Amino acid sequence: MPSRKILYASSLLILPILYVAFYTIHFQGHVIEQWLPRWDRLLLLVTIIGLERLYTYKYAVSQRAVLKRDIIANVVNLYVTGAVAAMIVLPVLVFIPEHFLGRKLVFASSEQLGPFWFQVMVILLVVSFFRYWMHRMQHENEFLWSLHSYHHRVTDLKASNAEVSNPIDFALRNIVIFLVLGIIGFDPFAILITVPATNITATFSHCGGDVKGGVLNYFFVTPEVHRWHHSAKTPEGHKHSCNYGVEFIFWDILFGTYYLPHKDGQTVNPEHIGHPGGLADESNYMKILLAPLGLYRPLPWFKRASRIPAE
Ligand SMILES: [Zn+2]
Ligand SMILES: [Zn+2]
Repeated sequence: MPSRKILYASSLLILPILYVAFYTIHFQGHVIEQWLPRWDRLLLLVTIIGLERLYTYKYAVSQRAVLKRDIIANVVNLYVTGAVAAMIVLPVLVFIPEHFLGRKLVFASSEQLGPFWFQVMVILLVVSFFRYWMHRMQHENEFLWSLHSYHHRVTDLKASNAEVSNPIDFALRNIVIFLVLGIIGFDPFAILITVPATNITATFSHCGGDVKGGVLNYFFVTPEVHRWHHSAKTPEGHKHSCNYGVEFIFWDILFGTYYLPHKDGQTVNPEHIGHPGGLADESNYMKILLAPLGLYRPLPWFKRASRIPAE
């Protein structure tokens, strides 16, 4: 059937085309940004939802039951987490070097850090290296896992749950490193052009459609690669999970945590997405926010209503 062939071919081409398109779009539309902040991320969300409809995935699981939770998580991590993290982390980053080293961490001028193109390369490598190891620690350290595990309780990858995570977990992996680089004194424009390069692929990694990565599976964190990171069954030979990269996957290849099986020339997908310990998805956002910090207390009336009667 030619239409099926066309659909398959387009499923291979769609990711590279959209990566480039959204990278370009990010720098357009300053007027729209004033009216609708982060409009390009919202457009990205809608586009990925469109891909999920077009390229239907055979193990798809409906996320309708957790829609409210997904909307809250998106609003919090897109609009609030970054600002709050900057307010807390920046004073600490400025205070500690001044107090203990007697000098600012910031360089006198960004030229001291090398030419512009070199700074872009360094930022891309440092950011992806940091995020790989932070993400790996978030699986290995008990407290960090208690924060991160909610992201792994989702039962399918969808555009809607890319941001589902405790905000501290989200900030540690996605925001802190950019603040550190800014404080060190990297060229702000070099940071500005690398942010979308890293974040667009990271967002696409949660596309629930059956889009193919092809050769990109060895360079970027594609949906095919990230699904195995969310597999309910940890692949054999891997300890906590595999494919820890957030935007680039080559660190996993380098450090031996890469996993993407093939059969008859095609990539194989995990049958079940979910918590490796079998915990069900959490639809209560307040629990995701407060429970890892020991601050979650159900309201008294809710406690009474949900109490199981004694036998
Ligand atoms: Zn993870
Ligand atoms: Zn994920």
